[in-house]
Amino acid sequence: MKEFATILYETPAQHVARIVLNRPETRNSQDTRMLYELNDAFDLAAQDDNVKVIILAANGPHFSSGHDLREQNSYQKMSEFRTVGTWCGFTCAGAEAQMAREKEVYIGFCERWRNIPKPTIAAVQGKVVAGGLMLIWPCDIIIASDDAQFCDPVVSFGIGGVEFFAHPWELGPRKAKELLFTSDWLSAAEAKQIGMVNQIVARDQLQETVLEMAKKITQKSLFALKLTKEAVNVAEDVQGRAQAMQTSFALHQLAHTHWLKVHGMLLDPTGLPPETAKALGARIEKNS
Ligand code: ZN
Repeated sequence: MKEFATILYETPAQHVARIVLNRPETRNSQDTRMLYELNDAFDLAAQDDNVKVIILAANGPHFSSGHDLREQNSYQKMSEFRTVGTWCGFTCAGAEAQMAREKEVYIGFCERWRNIPKPTIAAVQGKVVAGGLMLIWPCDIIIASDDAQFCDPVVSFGIGGVEFFAHPWELGPRKAKELLFTSDWLSAAEAKQIGMVNQIVARDQLQETVLEMAKKITQKSLFALKLTKEAVNVAEDVQGRAQAMQTSFALHQLAHTHWLKVHGMLLDPTGLPPETAKALGARIEKNS
């Protein structure tokens, strides 16, 4: 079995694989290593014919605080991992490297995970912020604890939403606009009401509930499950989901390039939470 540093790979029941985010000390913020390990783990589960259902869970009080904005030299780190996409150019000048990296590890990985033919279930607790949404939205089913909260605050940092722009599909156009414009939190109850979340359970029942659902699904034919998932996913895609997301991704890149010219950073640091802005302070002073 492959060794992972930032995640766990478990088989809690017959035909069930469970991938667990395991950087609770950083609120499961996603650095480059975690993203590649997640991708490797999804590949492991997808390629194991004995696995029928994949669970994505997280250790700690919060599911994920999003991308690790404090990671240094993220472009150079790309050379440490086996590239999955074919765009490449991670050390190029100007906007090219940033677009290449985000095409690979953000929209590329999310789309790839969304299209894994086997059923996937996200078990979600606590806070899910920005890039955290990009881990749960590609899953087929989302089960949340009653204390779960969801937020994409990146408009506060001058960017029009995270790279995997599923907001209109997950929330509906009006709620998507409200949450993006305000950076407000979406409660588990409201997320269920609008259909983003399948079920809400007490925190101490979360893992058990998800595992029970996974075990129930494993009773079905894997081929039938794959065909069913494909049919639902195609229904979204013929409505233009993937093409709309490519446009959103291009607009996202425009925003990064804009702030790179204005502040020398990929986002507007004046809108960051104080502790993050402080952590990035040297870079802000150096580049302004
Ligand atoms: Zn970005």
